[in-house]
Amino acid sequence: MGKRDDQQVKREFWLRQGRQLLAIAAALFLVLLLSVVYKRHDLFGEYSKNTLMAAQLVVITAFIGFTAFNWRCPSCKKYLGKDIHKRACRHCKARLR
Ligand SMILES: [Zn+2]
Repeated sequence: MGKRDDQQVKREFWLRQGRQLLAIAAALFLVLLLSVVYKRHDLFGEYSKNTLMAAQLVVITAFIGFTAFNWRCPSCKKYLGKDIHKRACRHCKARLR
């Protein structure tokens, strides 16, 4: 692999990491928001517990789906695992940062 590919992998990883952090923030926010809506039905009106639990499930499922699609090594396309601040891919050893 040449130097140019190396730079490309790093840039692509940077983009994926940004998207992943954004997705984590959005998913956390939505799940928290839904629990607040459930607890403060004086403020937000009455939603059934089932509706809110279904909505949370949708958020979590969407997040998992997005992660499976996004959180992959730019070089070998394998799943990157739990660590968001990875330095290198453990499958192909490509340097990510
Ligand atoms: Zn890899």
